[in-house]
Amino acid sequence: MHVPVVVLGGGPGGYAAAFLAADLGMEVTLVERDPRLGGTCLLRGCIPSKALLHVGRVLAEAREMEEWGIAFEKPAIDLSALRARKDKVIASLTGGLAQLAKRRNVTIVHGTARFTNSTTLEVAAAEAGGASHTITFDHCILASGSRPARIPAFDIGSSRVMDSTSALELADIPESLLVVGGGYIGLEMGTVYAELGSRVSVVELTDTLLPGADRDLVKPLQKRLEGLFARIHLRTKVVKLEDRGTAVAVHFDGPDGQTTQEFSRVLVAVGRRPNSDGLGLENTQVVVNAKGFVEVDGQQRTADPHILAIGDVCGEPMLAHRASHQGKVAVEVLHGEPALFAPRAIPAVVFTDPEIAWAGLTEHEAEASGRPVEVSKYPWAASGRAHALGRTDGLTKILVDAETDTVLGVGIVGSGAGELIAEGVLAIEMGCSARDLMEAIHPHPTLGETVAFSAENYFGLATEIYRPRAETAAT
Ligand code: FAD
Ligand code: NAD
Repeated sequence: MHVPVVVLGGGPGGYAAAFLAADLGMEVTLVERDPRLGGTCLLRGCIPSKALLHVGRVLAEAREMEEWGIAFEKPAIDLSALRARKDKVIASLTGGLAQLAKRRNVTIVHGTARFTNSTTLEVAAAEAGGASHTITFDHCILASGSRPARIPAFDIGSSRVMDSTSALELADIPESLLVVGGGYIGLEMGTVYAELGSRVSVVELTDTLLPGADRDLVKPLQKRLEGLFARIHLRTKVVKLEDRGTAVAVHFDGPDGQTTQEFSRVLVAVGRRPNSDGLGLENTQVVVNAKGFVEVDGQQRTADPHILAIGDVCGEPMLAHRASHQGKVAVEVLHGEPALFAPRAIPAVVFTDPEIAWAGLTEHEAEASGRPVEVSKYPWAASGRAHALGRTDGLTKILVDAETDTVLGVGIVGSGAGELIAEGVLAIEMGCSARDLMEAIHPHPTLGETVAFSAENYFGLATEIYRPRAETAAT
C-alpha cells in the first residue's frame, strides 16, 4: 500500500501527530507494534505511575490527619483490586484513543516496522499468523520513543530485579525495595512503594537526588524523603547484584566503603534509551548521534527529506508534552505552514510529594551562561493556604532579567507544584514582566498566590514578608 503520511509509533508523539494530520485533511496511517495505542506514557509510564501516586498521596494524607485530631484505622490494601483499578484507567484511555483514531479515519496497522529505504517500511505481523505489510510513503513521522536503559551486570535473570514497566505491574508489596537511580522514576516509584508499605532505599551515583533539578527545589523534597525512605545513599555505586532466592544481595561501593545488603526487590531506574536501533535507519539518510538520538532541525526534519522525527527518539527532555508538541509541529510543517519547535519553556514536573516543577531558565543555567538575573523566592511558610493545608514545606522562586524585569524562569516545590507551574509557562512564553505577575489579581487563599507574591518580593513589596528597606535598615 502507498500512503502520503505514515506515523511510526502510537505514543503521545505519534498519536497527536496522526490525529492532527487527519484533522488537517491528510490521509494518514499509524503503525504500532503494541496491540493498544498510548505508548510508554499511557501504557507503562505517566498515567499508571500517576494513578499509583494518587493512591500513595491519599494514604499519606489519611496518616497526616492525626495531627488534626482525626485518626483512621490502618488501611487494608487489596492489591489485586488496586491493580485492576489502575488497569481500568489505562483501558479507558487507550480505548478512547482507538475510538478517536477510528472517527478520524486514521488507519492503524499493528506490527513492527523497519525501513528498507527512505520511502518504504516493512511491517512484520504483531502476532504469529498475522499479515505482514509493505508500506510506501511520501513522508514518515518517526515517533518510536524510548525504553529503559539497562546495566548488563544487573541482568541476573531474576524477576526480583525490575525496571519501571515491571515495577508498575505491582506484583507484590515487597518488604524491602532498593531503587537504583535517584531520578524521576526512582523517586516517583520509590514514593509509591514506600506509601504502600515497603521499606525503600535509594542509591544514587551522583552527590544529589535529581541531579538536573534546582537545589532549592530538591532540598524540601529530600528532607521529606529522608523521613519516608529507609535510606538514601548518595555518591554510591552498585557493583554487583546476586540472586539469593528469597532476596537479592546488593554490593555497594560508596562513602561508607564496600557494603552488602539484601533486598526483597530491586528497581533499576537509571535513565532511558532512544528506540533508534533495529529500525533499519541505516537504509535511509537519517543521522543518529552518539547517544542514539535521531538528529532533527527546528522543524523536526531529519537529514532524510522523506522522514521527520519527534519525541523521545530525537532527544531530551524525554517528556510526553514535548513529544506531542513536536508531533504537531511536524504535521504543520508537512501541511506547508512555517512551524518551528522553539519553546521558551518546556515544563518539567516530578510528581513526588512534595512535587517539584520548573520551567524556563534555571539558576544553574543562568550562572553557567553568565546571564545577569535576579532570583526572588517566596517561602510557603508565609502562605495562608499552605498553613491551612498543613503543607508549608514549599517554595516558589522566579528568575527575572535584571535589566528588563522579564520573567525568565519559574521553579516551584510543594504540594500541587505540577499544576501551579502552568502559570509560569504562560508567563515565560508571553514574555511577561514580574510586574505583570504581581499586578494580576490572584485568588485568595490559594497556593497560586505564591507566584504573584514571589514577584512582589522581587520588588521588595511582599505583604506577608518583612524585608527592611535599605534606608530603614541603615538607621
Ligand atoms: P513512546 O511513548 O515511547 O511511544 C513510542 C511507540 O512506538 C511505542 O508505543 C512503541 O511500541 C512504538 N514503536 C517503537 N518501535 C516500533 C516499531 N519498530 N514498530 C512499531 N511500533 C514501534 N513524561 C511526562 O511528560 N510526564 C510524566 O509524568 C511521565 N511519567 C513517566 C513515568 C514512567 C514510569 C516512564 C517510563 C516515563 C514517563 N514519562 C513521563 C515519559 C513519557 O512516557 C515519554 O516521554 C513519552 O511517552 C514519549 O512519547 P513518544 O511518543 O516519543 O514515545
Ligand atoms: P533520570 O535520568 O531521571 O534519572 C536517572 C538517575 O540515575 C540519575 O540521577 C543518575 O545520576 C542515576 N544513575 C545513573 N546510573 C546510575 C547507577 N549505575 N547507579 C546509581 N544511580 C545511577 O532517569 P529515569 O528516572 O530512569 O527516568 C527516565 C526519563 O523518563 C526521565 O529523564 C524523564 O525524561 C522521563 N520521566 C519523566 C517523568 C515525569 O515527567 N514526571 C517521570 C518518569 C520518567
